[in-house]
Amino acid sequence: MDPTRAAAQALDDADPLAGFRARFTGAGDDGLRYLDGNSLGRMPRETPAALARVAEQEWGRGLVGSWASWIDVGTRVGDLVGTGVLGARPGEVLLADSTSVDLYKLLVAAADARPGRDALVCCADDFPTDRYVVAGVAAARGMTVREVPADVDEGLDPAVLAGALDGRVAVVVLSAVAYRSGALVDVAAVTAAAREAGALVVWDLSHAAGAVELDLAAAGADLAVGCTYKYLNGGPGAPAFLYVRRELQEELRQPIWGWFGQRDQFAMGPAYDPVPGIGRFAVGTPPVLAAAAVEVGVRLVAEAGIGRLAAKGRALTALLVDLADAWLAPHGVALASPRDPARRGAHVTLAHPHAWQLTQALVDRGVVPDFRTPDRVRLGPAPLYTRFVDVWDALDVFRGVLEDRSWEGYPEERSRVT
Ligand SMILES: *Cc1c(COP(=O)(O)O)cnc(C)c1O
Repeated sequence: MDPTRAAAQALDDADPLAGFRARFTGAGDDGLRYLDGNSLGRMPRETPAALARVAEQEWGRGLVGSWASWIDVGTRVGDLVGTGVLGARPGEVLLADSTSVDLYKLLVAAADARPGRDALVCCADDFPTDRYVVAGVAAARGMTVREVPADVDEGLDPAVLAGALDGRVAVVVLSAVAYRSGALVDVAAVTAAAREAGALVVWDLSHAAGAVELDLAAAGADLAVGCTYKYLNGGPGAPAFLYVRRELQEELRQPIWGWFGQRDQFAMGPAYDPVPGIGRFAVGTPPVLAAAAVEVGVRLVAEAGIGRLAAKGRALTALLVDLADAWLAPHGVALASPRDPARRGAHVTLAHPHAWQLTQALVDRGVVPDFRTPDRVRLGPAPLYTRFVDVWDALDVFRGVLEDRSWEGYPEERSRVT
């Protein structure tokens, strides 16, 4: 039986996180069914005031003297991410640079820590920047890349990955939640398999942080990077986070030797001598304004609690899948994500040959998913501010667009941003 709107409403009535919706701009009044919080999270209502405070008081009035408090922003906000979202210990996470740059830094550091090994492993269906960074590092170092195939809908088979691990592999780069299908990888199991083979894993947590339970300490994870502008609601271009397990920090040295990683930084000493802790993975001056926005977003996620967010994410996507089965499948729309909620993150992807036209038709009707190649509509009902009735309404609009074929009026040609 397809769930009724009243059934979706009942789920909202029982939702312990329902109150968080009012703390995001637009969530209560813009009329959108916003299902793209996994690409750009909504803006917390507090964020403009937090930015204004840093701009007007700290920068405007405090001027250069404010560096006394700004200097540690990377480790301070990093700790909020680490302890509130990732299950890391204090002193293991730094807010700095972009996900792509942090991946480069940790990948090179990890490869240096495995001398004599000449292969890097990544997933053939991983997010492009991850594959490109791996390819670039391999090219620069004369290493080979083993691209492990993954099912585009079901994700990576751990047995296939295990088959690619041997004594030549230095580092594995892998997303915990696949950006397209949402397929979830078992972080602890893969970490253990890689360690057994003597390799390090750099996890990309971009689609996982704020969406699924991550207990990096318990999983024994060594290295990770991820975005703060998706489920962490840090805003467009917000700086990324990087994680390095405490026991590994002194052993690793990242390749961009900048003064923010330097011991006694203002001694302006002659030679690079990095601090012992997570600070050694910093490069240059941190983006103070952007970090203030990240802090607001991360505090909200931590307050909601990752266990409750992940549970709601599974429930929202389960409703979405039930409705897609009942209403969309008869029109040729296929589930392109794992069916088992325990095997996916907080987003679901649907396949249809005219996915791009469907996406445009949905956006015109106030439903905001995004398009992903080759023929996918990706729907991310971010659990912090999305209601069950939003999912119900969005799927109802989707059904209507398929029934009246209004998607046919939209161009097949793709725009620059999808
Ligand atoms: C969103 C995303 C990125 C983005 O990297 P940027 O450097 O912030 O542009 C990287 N990797 C994955 C897996 C992503 O989902």
